[in-house]
Amino acid sequence: MKCPKCENLMVTERFTDDQQTGKFSFIGWRCLSCGLILDPTILMNRRQKKSEGVAKSDKKVLTGIKN
Ligand SMILES: [Zn+2]
Repeated sequence: MKCPKCENLMVTERFTDDQQTGKFSFIGWRCLSCGLILDPTILMNRRQKKSEGVAKSDKKVLTGIKN
């Protein structure tokens, strides 16, 4: 995994949201160089946006073939 900001090595790390719930924890990515943190929610949102874009372009292509 490369950091999207500085392209250095990122490592997996367990994060705990102690101040909010005291229970919530997740595995995320942390950049060793600049300290950028990516959590699973951010990564999932990016994937969903990408797949939505692909689906829309696929529909346009199919419509073009039918017409
Ligand atoms: Zn970085």
